[in-house]
Amino acid sequence: MTDKDVKIYIIGAGVSGLAAAITLKNAGYNAQILEHSPTVGGRVKTTKNGSMKLDHGFQVLLDEYPAAKEFLNLESLNLVKFSPASIVFIDGNKHIIGDAQRDMSFAWNTLIAGVGIVSDKWKVFMLSRKLKQKNLTDIFNDSEKTTLKYLQDYGFSQKMIDCFFKPFYTGIFLETELQTSSRMFEFVFKMFSIGNATIPGAGMEAIPNQMADKLVGQIQFNTTVKEVIADTIHLTTGETIKSDYTIIATPAETIVPNLPKSDKPWHSVQTLYFDTDDHGFDQPIIGLIAGNDCLSNNFHFLNDVFENHPKVISVSVVAKHNLTKDQLEERVRKELIEQANIKAGDLIKMMEIKKALPTFDSIQYAMSLLKLNLLKISS
Ligand SMILES: Cc1cc2nc3c(=O)[nH]c(=O)nc-3n(C[C@H](O)[C@H](O)[C@H](O)COP(=O)(O)OP(=O)(O)OC[C@H]3O[C@@H](n4cnc5c(N)ncnc54)[C@H](O)[C@@H]3O)c2cc1C
Repeated sequence: MTDKDVKIYIIGAGVSGLAAAITLKNAGYNAQILEHSPTVGGRVKTTKNGSMKLDHGFQVLLDEYPAAKEFLNLESLNLVKFSPASIVFIDGNKHIIGDAQRDMSFAWNTLIAGVGIVSDKWKVFMLSRKLKQKNLTDIFNDSEKTTLKYLQDYGFSQKMIDCFFKPFYTGIFLETELQTSSRMFEFVFKMFSIGNATIPGAGMEAIPNQMADKLVGQIQFNTTVKEVIADTIHLTTGETIKSDYTIIATPAETIVPNLPKSDKPWHSVQTLYFDTDDHGFDQPIIGLIAGNDCLSNNFHFLNDVFENHPKVISVSVVAKHNLTKDQLEERVRKELIEQANIKAGDLIKMMEIKKALPTFDSIQYAMSLLKLNLLKISS
């Protein structure tokens, strides 16, 4: 048996498991992926509803992610780029805040926007310049604090934090208090500064599908792993598989006995899709609702993003609440009208993703080998 004949199994065909399998394939190893569901993608999924493309939660691909460039053929994903700006709605008033370094037409609107004070706009410019030059190793080796503390220490006004940073980063971190690590903030801010937020023309699920195309015959669907003990993978069917190396690309504590259970809560999100007569913004752009006590966080029009798409608005709700689904639907409808003068029609779908993102109060770019869920099995 040569090194390349070792049996390697990967548990989970989300983007992490697929990336692991592609990495191994490029190095000459033929790993098998065991996937619980009938499709690839894990959290990155798109439901096709007639001619509608409904992603499972609003997600974007930042095209400057190093991993995106490494694992994807970005060109063939027909990426649709979001405008490097947001439209912020505060108590019925509309403000445009955009990256004037990328598109000068945003300069004036951004400067006069009632979102923060003039010195805030200058600070955004300076922060963007600083982070463009800061490499990823330095970002992830820097000391950590919460994003909120980072922004306060940088000198941003409370108004700028409340009216722009909170709504914008709530939609990304999926938590409302900016408690996520400043390393994550710097990383994401840098990615937005040097690249684009994009969605593939066929919806987000085109990403894992493209990765899976490189792994024909290597994915075993509808296969649920019950537990992994030493060199044996136990399936829920009672079957067992011997493995030389097992990579767990899903929370390992769920299938490896005796691993300490993480006490970190997951962040959840609800995404509501409504049909609408509203025309949209004529370009893909993110709307933010920064009004006091609003549950709706961000929205965009699918007809602005996808070609020939019916008029549909997608709204994300991140804040915790005790409303029933019906009450939430009504509340979001009311907020859209009051804050943004957008009339939502029938609810097409409400998606609730309970385990959307883990808590990132401390984060590293690369895990130490010890922490990697890679079990070297002694034979
Ligand atoms: C609403 C939302 C918004 C997001 N926004 C963004 C964004 O804008 N940009 C961004 O970069 N990221 C975003 N993310 C995060 C991103 O989607 C995830 O980081 C990524 O998809 C995680 O991939 P993964 O492969 O690690 O895990 P998962 O996608 O969770 O995949 C795990 C896989 O393992 C399988 N599995 C689990 N248990 C077993 C078992 N016992 N046996 C066999 N198979 C098993 C599951 O079926 C699944 O397919 C967002 C996530 C959500 C939900």
